[in-house]
Amino acid sequence: MKVLQVCAEIFPLLKTGGLADVAGALPAALTAAGAEPRVLLPGFAPILDGLKNADHVADLAPHGAVPGARLLYGELPAAQAWAYVIDAPALYLRDGGPYADAHQQPYADNHLRFARLGWAAAELAAGADAYWRPAVVHAHDWHAGLAPACLRAGPAAAVPSLYTVHNLAYQGQFDARHFAELGLPPGFFNVHGLEAYGQLNFMKAGLYFADRLSTVSPSYAHEIQQPEQGMGLDGLLAARAGVLHGILNGVDDTVWNPATDAHIAAPFSADKPAGKARCKADLQARLGLAADARALLFIVVSRLTEQKGLPLVLGVVDEIVARGGQFALLGEGDAVLQAAFTALAARHPGRVAVQLGYDEAQAHRLIAGADVIMVPSRFEPCGLTQLYGLAYGTLPLVRRVGGLADTVTDAALENLADGSATGFVFETFDTAGLRAGIRRAFALADMRGQWRRVQRQAMRQHHDWAQAAHAYLDLYRLMTHER
Ligand code: ADP
Repeated sequence: MKVLQVCAEIFPLLKTGGLADVAGALPAALTAAGAEPRVLLPGFAPILDGLKNADHVADLAPHGAVPGARLLYGELPAAQAWAYVIDAPALYLRDGGPYADAHQQPYADNHLRFARLGWAAAELAAGADAYWRPAVVHAHDWHAGLAPACLRAGPAAAVPSLYTVHNLAYQGQFDARHFAELGLPPGFFNVHGLEAYGQLNFMKAGLYFADRLSTVSPSYAHEIQQPEQGMGLDGLLAARAGVLHGILNGVDDTVWNPATDAHIAAPFSADKPAGKARCKADLQARLGLAADARALLFIVVSRLTEQKGLPLVLGVVDEIVARGGQFALLGEGDAVLQAAFTALAARHPGRVAVQLGYDEAQAHRLIAGADVIMVPSRFEPCGLTQLYGLAYGTLPLVRRVGGLADTVTDAALENLADGSATGFVFETFDTAGLRAGIRRAFALADMRGQWRRVQRQAMRQHHDWAQAAHAYLDLYRLMTHER
């Protein structure tokens, strides 16, 4: 099964969030499951740098105002993937990030930059590379949302597509006047197409034109069909519920495995847990926290955005400290949140540590060394950090929403009794809800034996990519039979 994965980032070359982790893990998992995946990516500098033995395989045509480009094909050894990369320096080589400039302003021509990605997918499906033609196109998030529309518009209309939503909050919305620049048939700009609330909407394009849809957890698949979490697209999602699937992300255990992790102070596992204490001591020393093995250490590793429930965290840190615990945060994003967490750290020297910025190695050290990882999101399509927490015996404290609800089992009495508990789950999106979870974490910590049992159960969870890859492969097969 030849399948083209279309996305804008891939771990470890370029990552702004969980999408990159998924894109980085899926090719190897699909290959192991018996598929033949290739990835299609925009030629951002880190992607071009990571591409080895590249050949120039095709010249991509212009479409409307979307410029033509060279299509390269080669290996991305760092991601264990074979990839097509769109070489278009004027579109992709910029001083800021992949989507926005250094001041967080989205690039004014993003509609063209990512329409180029969509058209490249359609051209590959139509045979742009004579030696390899996908049977299925699998597009991810708004950046690739135009791919299913371009497929329908072009000569490869018979090639089916799967569109996966990693986060419905980012839709790729543009002024309607830009539609004329995309090179798509005029009839595509209406409610049965790319238009949503008078605007051009790349995610809507994917949701409307793809044969099948998926998102990254069963709960999120259900939630986005309701107005509260549907971000304005719940009507379309509910109408397409019959082709909408929820497939949980996995953990790439070549990257996130406490027994082999090169970033952490000492290896450990469910059977040999001793190294975790050394990781905690090392982390406390690195962060300037008091060396205190008994202090319950809560962490957050996150983009600092409204979605992630960080104002709730700000409201409970004083209580964590008052109860003798410690708190550490690694994150970057919203300036107001950054300032608030920095001020909090200044108020609690030795008890609260805040590191602003993106730091892959430090994320591993925090997740290995902590006792509890908090993910109190307002919404969460899948969430990866709670899965990493489970794998490292760092109990997740999460809100019962989206993929968090699907992956963490609360330490309620009945779950403790039957051995299924893996963390702490709270219901309401407010400080009181999170505080209740924190109090329960302290209560469990007072029962060392119980804590260790929950930890062992957490580390035994297997959210592996093999399971997800087989589920995707089943969908690809279904789609090719449906056509
Ligand atoms: P989202 O995709 O919404 O950001 P996920 O939990 O799905 O949330 O994925 C987040 C990924 O980004 C995880 O791999 C997490 O470890 C990583 N991450 C988030 N913030 C940072 C940071 N400041 N430094 C290093 N890694 C981070």
